[in-house]
Amino acid sequence: MITLKNVSKWYGHFQVLTDCSTEVKKGEVVVVCGPSGSGKSTLIKTVNGLEPIQQGEIEVNGTLLTNKKTNLAQLRAKVGMVFQHFELFPHLSILENLTLAQVKVLKRNKDAAREKGQKLLARVGLSTHANKYPGQLSGGQQQRVAIARALCMDPVAMLFDEPTSALDPEMINEVLDVMVELANEGMTMMVVTHEMGFARKVANRVIFMDEGKIVEDTPKDAFFNNPKSDRAKDFLAKIL
Ligand code: ADP
Ligand code: MG
Repeated sequence: MITLKNVSKWYGHFQVLTDCSTEVKKGEVVVVCGPSGSGKSTLIKTVNGLEPIQQGEIEVNGTLLTNKKTNLAQLRAKVGMVFQHFELFPHLSILENLTLAQVKVLKRNKDAAREKGQKLLARVGLSTHANKYPGQLSGGQQQRVAIARALCMDPVAMLFDEPTSALDPEMINEVLDVMVELANEGMTMMVVTHEMGFARKVANRVIFMDEGKIVEDTPKDAFFNNPKSDRAKDFLAKIL
């Protein structure tokens, strides 16, 4: 579903990604972890074309992102992205947040979009909040809305960038539970997170990044039981 081949990227003279290669198969869940500043957010943003790359190739669902003819807006509509800060539109109701892109980008009619929005709100346990505004919801609820909004687009894959790290501790699990459910339903996912409980539960593989490089890309159990690099060992010792 997602293939990165020898991806390198620079911000000006600063090389942020060096020769990153990996593959996420349909239905796989890959957790990306590593120290702050190691390039995790940048890597995940390259996958839906939010950050251009200077070297290498990225293919998502059979579409080559690095091809100039690729319509990035269309691709982005099919790859859901959930950020640390929920980035809901504050002046729109929850339901309007869920229908806007369906109507504008997918050209769904309003009724179909509302129906889909309600269905996905129910799925994240927020049916009764459709007419509220984002500011009236807790952080955990807003993040569940952000996930529902991405799912409204019928994505082929979902990208998460530290979706729980801005949340109060008591709200983390309500968001992780939605993500675990999604993983168990077979969604293809790339998840930047330090929630190793989540990784242990649903990840197929763990990618460990350091200084812009993919240092480890291993099945979950191998990563936790027997990390190869000293850097991953140090990292795990600090967060577990
Ligand atoms: P992580 O998500 O692992 O913390 P990032 O991908 O956010 O890492 O950042 C990797 C490195 O790139 C950091 O050194 C960061 O300062 C730098 N960086 C991130 N975004 C930009 C940008 N827009 N311009 C210049 N440097 C950036
Ligand atoms: Mg980051």
